[in-house]
Amino acid sequence: MAQILSGREVASAMNDALLTRAGALAERGILPTLAIVRVGENESDLSYERGAEKRAQKVGVGIRKLALPGDVKAETLLETIRALNDDDSVHGVLLLRPLPEQLKGDSQRICNALRPDKDVDAMTDLSSAGVYQGRSDLGFPPCTPEACMKILHHYGISCAGKRAVVIGRSLVVGRPLAMMLMAEDATVTLCHSKTPNLPEIARQADILVTAAGHLGFVDAGFVRPGQVVLDVSVNWDPEKNGIAGDCVFDQAEPVVSAITPVPGGVGAVTSSVLMEHVITAAERRGL
Ligand code: NAP
Repeated sequence: MAQILSGREVASAMNDALLTRAGALAERGILPTLAIVRVGENESDLSYERGAEKRAQKVGVGIRKLALPGDVKAETLLETIRALNDDDSVHGVLLLRPLPEQLKGDSQRICNALRPDKDVDAMTDLSSAGVYQGRSDLGFPPCTPEACMKILHHYGISCAGKRAVVIGRSLVVGRPLAMMLMAEDATVTLCHSKTPNLPEIARQADILVTAAGHLGFVDAGFVRPGQVVLDVSVNWDPEKNGIAGDCVFDQAEPVVSAITPVPGGVGAVTSSVLMEHVITAAERRGL
């Protein structure tokens, strides 16, 4: 039986520490504040917004919600971001994405309009550069890959000298996570949909991370005894009528040495990482 790497346990430990840090800021009259910018009424955005609000409340972070109509023009969104840049009472800005179709062509310009010191969810190029250069003074790393690292740290799982295999090469998960694992001295193989012999490569991993976004994709053929498995994916499982990861949990769990569940794994840590970024941004600025 594998050790269950509980994201809820990691988040709870993080939240205690964050509450203390927010308390120290409050004593100086600072309320660390996150502005959430939402375009339209997409249900997954609304649900993310509710989750972030709940987590913010737990750790002493203030939330400012800005809802723009679904057909908003790029210029209006840019003006909103610029106003938040100039607002000293806002320490972090989260723009819910993906943006609607009419804004897709402007998305680079929109994302890079945000001041990197308020970019708590890595939407600017400078935040990405920080991950690749191993620098913490350029924006903030993306929350999900950082949540994976928090889980490894919490459970005392060292990356040094280990072979890590990451399935998925997106800019928000796979690629930055590969950099983070490498920064901690893992030897990393980054896989994608064109990678041949994936089960064989996956079995060689000491740390296997899956972020393909395919329900039941990682079955018994991908795992071996001794592995640590992090399942980042959030898929809808019609049989469970709920969410599930890429791993066939019932096949992987009896074999590997540790595994994250879905739900209650990586996703449970992500919003605490976001709140940590907001608090860090407020501490850095001291305003
Ligand atoms: P994405 O942009 O769709 O990227 C998926 C990646 O997986 C791509 O690189 C793709 O390869 C690769 N892939 C897809 N099918 C594959 C296959 N059969 N074999 C090998 N590789 C395959 O998705 P994402 O934004 O990175 O998100 C990935 C998953 O994580 C989703 O389920 C998402 O919901 C979840 N997620 C969770 C959190 C959280 O907080 N837990 C946050 C963000 C995302 P190609 O590049 O070749 O197409």
